[in-house]
Amino acid sequence: MFRKILVANRGEIAIRVMRACRELGVSSVAIYSEADKNALFANYADEAVFVGPSPTSQSYLKMENIIKAALDTGAEGIHPGYGFLSENPVFARLCEENGIVFIGPASYSIDAMGSKITARQTMKAAGVPIVPGVEKGISDPQEVEEIAEQVGFPIILKPAAGGGGIGMKIVDGPQDLASALSSSQSIARSAFGDDTVYVEKYLPEPRHIEFQIMADNRGNTVYVSERECSIQRRHQKLIEESPSPVMTPELRKKMGDIAVRAAKAIRYRSAGTVEFMYSRGNFYFLEMNTRLQVEHPITEMVTGIDLAKEQIMVASGEDLGFSQDEIEIRGWAIECRINAEDPLRDFAPSPGKLRRYRSPGGPGIRVDSGVYTGYVIPPYYDSLISKLVAHGRNRAEAIVRMQRALYEYIIVGVETNIAFHKAVLRNDRFRQGDINTHFIKEENIMDDVKKVAQEDMVKGATLASSLGADTRKIAAIAAAVDSYLSATQIVPGNSVKGKS
Ligand code: ADP
Repeated sequence: MFRKILVANRGEIAIRVMRACRELGVSSVAIYSEADKNALFANYADEAVFVGPSPTSQSYLKMENIIKAALDTGAEGIHPGYGFLSENPVFARLCEENGIVFIGPASYSIDAMGSKITARQTMKAAGVPIVPGVEKGISDPQEVEEIAEQVGFPIILKPAAGGGGIGMKIVDGPQDLASALSSSQSIARSAFGDDTVYVEKYLPEPRHIEFQIMADNRGNTVYVSERECSIQRRHQKLIEESPSPVMTPELRKKMGDIAVRAAKAIRYRSAGTVEFMYSRGNFYFLEMNTRLQVEHPITEMVTGIDLAKEQIMVASGEDLGFSQDEIEIRGWAIECRINAEDPLRDFAPSPGKLRRYRSPGGPGIRVDSGVYTGYVIPPYYDSLISKLVAHGRNRAEAIVRMQRALYEYIIVGVETNIAFHKAVLRNDRFRQGDINTHFIKEENIMDDVKKVAQEDMVKGATLASSLGADTRKIAAIAAAVDSYLSATQIVPGNSVKGKS
């Protein structure tokens, strides 16, 4: 086992990995930027090294500074977390060249999945079903039209080097094709420095279902259940759950075996995720993420397997601690990504100081975060405040636990997307598990988000009135609620006891 590991990331995921280190008796080294001087993760680590100014290009992406920090502190391995350098084969290679273990797959596996086109070619050759389309870059609108006629409209144009849904364009018919193609190319050029775009059929009623993979250096490869991530906004996941409501034991085995085949085709080791699109009973390989995912906690909750610890153990040369037959699914888990953003203003980021912060607890609740009261969320990085996870014996219990936890959550000082989560969780179709990636649009969830926000305002006003505030003034309501929260740190219930 390693003696010391450097965690090349920040925020909640840095703490998540350091927690695994602590349980394994491994020392942790944090790296931090100017903006993260007072961040929790930098304090949680056994050692912390300053790596540069706040912008990511000068700190968390500055490979030579990070390698130097590892060498200076004597760290034997680097865990990249997710984002930043986690899927950068150049960085993985740099670690390998410096005698530092990259806690993730080998650089050739990252390379193999780095381009969506190469990934499609490799998967097709391995007998993994891929979404109908092409396995080459296309720049001629005429050619795109011919492919579209074969697979049928609508189609989706995707940057080969893409990620985060950036530059993807859905095209309903030939009339929009040329402009969509040039727009996708120019977004790809500026975001990824590569304007290669290819075509896939745009599947109807698509559900995003992904399989967690774990593999060791000896080629032992298993699937650790699936996650459904169909609640998305602009192709970005907001709520994930495990298992998937459409899963049966037979389908799980079929998809899981194919996910293992996909991983073996690129000699994969460590934790990884094979993403599929599921549409009307069929499933197709979408892409493989060669890292630990944001949503990994729901898998940990239902299987009891600590994925971050397993990753470190297999990187240190140990065999996988379990076989496929030993993996069992217990109950149901849901994760809500709690972001500092304003759902009523098109989800605009809302960085700033957390004047009050109290996270929920109680049965079945897990909160992965890196914040505290008084912490200032910097504007430079993502807006994730925490990942709120609820586990229950079944889906219905996981949902009510999540609703109860959202009710308990106190976050004052920045806007959050909590109203969004409340609106989804009370939706009938969601509760029946009848979801797909268009759910938010199809159900007009944003109208309900406004209603939830309104209801929360009314509750605040009721509380303020019971406290004797002038409820004709928004500022007076806010001040009364704020001072109540600071005095009690409890969420105002529906029937507030107080002066009336
Ligand atoms: P990125 O790597 O940019 O995140 P992905 O290829 O993983 O892009 O796709 C992200 C999301 O876009 C999917 O979860 C799904 O919602 C949607 N999507 C992608 N490809 C298709 C497709 N062929 N048909 C329908 N939806 C798709």
